[in-house]
Amino acid sequence: MINFENTEIAFAYRFNGELSKAKFLFNTVASPLVVRLGSGLLKLAAFLHIPISWAVKPTIFKHFVGGESLKECQPVVATLARYNVRSILDYSVEGKSSPKEMERAFNEILSSVAFAASNPNVVFSVFKPTGLIDVNVLTLVSEGKLLSELQQEQYNLFLSRVDTLCSAAAESGKPILIDAEDSWYQKALDEVIESMMAKYNTQRAVVFNTLQMYRTDRFSYLKAAHKRAQEKGYILGMKYVRGAYMEKERVRAVQMGYISPICETKAATDKNFNEAIKYSVSNIDTITTFCGTHNQDSVNYLVCLMDSNGIAPSDSRIYFSQLYGMSDNLSFNLAAAGYNVAKYVPYGPVKHVMPYLIRRAEENTSVKGQTGRELALIKTEIRRRRTAR
Ligand SMILES: Cc1cc2nc3c(=O)[nH]c(=O)nc-3n(C[C@H](O)[C@H](O)[C@H](O)COP(=O)(O)OP(=O)(O)OC[C@H]3O[C@@H](n4cnc5c(N)ncnc54)[C@H](O)[C@@H]3O)c2cc1C
Repeated sequence: MINFENTEIAFAYRFNGELSKAKFLFNTVASPLVVRLGSGLLKLAAFLHIPISWAVKPTIFKHFVGGESLKECQPVVATLARYNVRSILDYSVEGKSSPKEMERAFNEILSSVAFAASNPNVVFSVFKPTGLIDVNVLTLVSEGKLLSELQQEQYNLFLSRVDTLCSAAAESGKPILIDAEDSWYQKALDEVIESMMAKYNTQRAVVFNTLQMYRTDRFSYLKAAHKRAQEKGYILGMKYVRGAYMEKERVRAVQMGYISPICETKAATDKNFNEAIKYSVSNIDTITTFCGTHNQDSVNYLVCLMDSNGIAPSDSRIYFSQLYGMSDNLSFNLAAAGYNVAKYVPYGPVKHVMPYLIRRAEENTSVKGQTGRELALIKTEIRRRRTAR
């Protein structure tokens, strides 16, 4: 059993000053009122073009983000690697939808694939498909509706860009993860991603889809996708998460009068998550598993499954992942025990990663999140260092 309470290992990469700052940060975001107020002020500042970088960059940005550019992330990548924790550099600019902005996003993601190729400690690339195409087009395709000429052109451009990214990943030897967002346009993405897997995953998993296990249909989708992969002779690459958009999904289902695609309870999501992980591990020769979670029980569950199936911790077909700045007790203790671990390290200009930072703050309030746990671990480590002096 791995001791996830070992804070000495968990925070060895953080200096005393950084830990104190992290304590202050998590104490601050523990208050829902402060987070609501802070988020409002940040949104207002962005709207009014008031520069906020001076306040954000040394604080919340530094804790949760690798840097403003790939180059700026280099020291973070090197520091994590000293503890055998690898990185995944995630261009976290959201909500950009003009053709120019999409082209910029595409070029940046392509640069991140090249960066991964050149750096042994960056072990995957990643992208959000919605940074590359209008979600309305994806929704129409998912619903089997006809596209206008312009929409068809946009969709064709999207398909060719996804292919370019997957092909670059295949050539670089580093796999690429494709994030999942809203359920109502995932069908189109599933089809595109499966076609990419058929093309690039013939020898090993290069292209990974994301399964949000809070969706009631995802376990049956996994089995069906696995069957198709076996029939066509390619390896399935699957990233498993619980899913980040539960409230939005439920509201839309009510507003539009369809049955919510989300599990009714947290326990049902947990069961679904475990079943998918178990299925994946039992089929390790044909499914490569990427487990993205901050849930200690899920991590323990996968560790036990690997053990009972005689799978070595370092087996390259299983990866654990947490977000940079969160759940270091899982990442660093897993890595110290020899498991494959990679942190999702977001990057991008301060003003453009604000939506990501606001989400992290909201997710970490005492009501919604795991602040209590993060804070307790940080305090334990600060105390331990004081007494060890
Ligand atoms: C490396 C990494 C990559 C990620 N990539 C993506 C991605 O591509 N797409 C994406 O959507 N998310 C992504 N996430 C976020 C992820 O989906 C979760 O929101 C987040 O990790 C919290 O889930 P958990 O397993 O860590 O922890 P837990 O705290 O155990 O689970 C919280 C999750 O459980 C589910 N849940 C909570 N309450 C209920 C309820 N009442 N009924 C049903 N379900 C409930 C929700 O999904 C909630 O987010 C990623 C997370 C990580 C660590």
